Amino acid sequence: MKKRLAFVGAHPDDCDILGSGLAMRYRELDWDVLFVSMANGDAGHHEMTRPDLAARRKGETEAVAAMLGIEYVVMPTSDCEVFPSLDQRWALLRLLRQFAPDLVITHHAQDYHADHRYTNQLVGDVSYLLKVPHCCPDVPALRKDTVQAFFHAVRQEQRPDAFAVVIDVDDLWQRKVEVMAKHESQFFEWLPWVNNEDLTAVPGPADPAGRFAYIDRQRSPIFERSARLYRDRLCDLYGSERGNSIRLAEAYVAAPFPTALSEDNYRDLFPFVK
Ligand SMILES: [Zn+2]
Repeated sequence: MKKRLAFVGAHPDDCDILGSGLAMRYRELDWDVLFVSMANGDAGHHEMTRPDLAARRKGETEAVAAMLGIEYVVMPTSDCEVFPSLDQRWALLRLLRQFAPDLVITHHAQDYHADHRYTNQLVGDVSYLLKVPHCCPDVPALRKDTVQAFFHAVRQEQRPDAFAVVIDVDDLWQRKVEVMAKHESQFFEWLPWVNNEDLTAVPGPADPAGRFAYIDRQRSPIFERSARLYRDRLCDLYGSERGNSIRLAEAYVAAPFPTALSEDNYRDLFPFVK
C-alpha cells in the first residue's frame, strides 16, 4: 500500500540535506512526500535583508520541490523564533492532518540549533493530537496511526540507543548534492561566511563541477559517519557483503511516540531496504 512521508525541518534546507535520499526512494515508488520548514530562513545571510532572503529561499525550496516531485511548505515564522507556542503548534497540526502522513521525521532533540530542538518539540507536541478531533476541529482528525522518527543529527557523534533504520544513499549522492546546490544562498554564500572561509575560493555558478566538489567535500563526511556508526544495522538490513560496502547512509532513529518505528512496522515504510 502507498505510504506518505512528511519531513519537518527547522529551516528551508534541513530536510533537503538530511532526508533527500529517503525522499527520492519514496518518489521512486511514486509515494508522496512533504517537506516542511518551520522557519522561513530569513536570518541565514550576512548581507541580504530578511524579507529579500525569505523570498529568495522560498524560491530555492520551489526549485527543490520541482526537482524531487514533492510538496514543500515554508512556515512564515522568522528564523530563531521557532518555539512551541500554541500558534505554531496548531499550524503544524493542521498541515500534518491535511497531508495525513504515515511516517513523520524530524530533528533529534539533541541538535545544535534552538530552532531544530523546538521543531523536535513541536512535532512531539502534535503527534498524539493528530487523532484528537476536538483540537483544531476545522481539519478532520486522522483515523490512522503515524510513525515518528528522528534524523541522526548532523553533529551527533554518538549513536542513540534506539531502533534505527539506515538506508544506502551511495547511488543517490549526486542528486543529493544537486538538491543542496539549489540552496545557493546557503551553500555558496552564508555557510562559507559563517564558517570563516575565504569567500573568494568558493566556486561560482559558471563552475558546476567545482560546486559539486565543494559540497561533496563538506557534506559527504556526515553520511560516511552515519554509515560507520550504524555499520552493523546496514549489515542487518542489506546483508553483510553489501552492508560493509556502503559508503554513504542516512540514519533514522525511532521516536518514542506516538507509534515507535520498530521491527514490526519498518518494512512497510522502508520496503527498498533489503
Ligand atoms: Zn537548520
